[in-house]
Amino acid sequence: MLTVGLTGGIGSGKSAVSAELERLGATVIDADAIAREVVEPGTEGLAEVVEEFGEEVLTPEGRLDRARLGEIVFADEERLARLNAIVHPRVGERSAELMERARESGARVVVYDVPLLVENDLGSLYDVVVVVDAPDETRVERVAADRGMPREQVWARIRAQADREARLAAADLVVDNSGTREELSARVAELWKELLARA
Ligand code: ATP
Repeated sequence: MLTVGLTGGIGSGKSAVSAELERLGATVIDADAIAREVVEPGTEGLAEVVEEFGEEVLTPEGRLDRARLGEIVFADEERLARLNAIVHPRVGERSAELMERARESGARVVVYDVPLLVENDLGSLYDVVVVVDAPDETRVERVAADRGMPREQVWARIRAQADREARLAAADLVVDNSGTREELSARVAELWKELLARA
């Protein structure tokens, strides 16, 4: 079973690529979804986050206020590291479980969508690292248009993440998403062939 780490900066098109790969037959594991799961109300993970950051990171309903927590950690590397130290081991454990399940079900290619793969130096965990790449300006425009996020906020996220050079240096394969959705589909079809060949 081939394990693929799929990454890219905010708005690069990771979700678009992983949805397409899933359609083609890949088993997709979404690291963000797991990261949410391990801090659901009632989890040990959430209790530790509250201990570290205080009740101010909870919504009135007692869920994690991700926007509030994001404001705190994206402005402070040390606090981001402390959050990661709580969340990452739990994500790792859950990922291993899901990977085992995929293996048992006979999957040939498992794709992990891991937004911060390069930032957290996780490339060695996967057989192949695939980077989705698009120019910063394109990403800002797409995220602003589709999600209504203020441009300056998208730029702030981009500055807090690894730069393009660092990401490309970590890549075994690159998917160029600077063009249309149709062009992206065609590139993902090529990527899928390559992954099957490597599997
Ligand atoms: P994030 O890191 O923020 O989760 P992502 O890398 O998963 O982002 P997507 O959500 O797949 O990125 O894409 C960002 C936005 O750009 C989405 O609204 C998506 O619909 C749009 N998009 C992706 N690819 C293209 C494309 N080739 N042309 C136009 N819009 C695109």
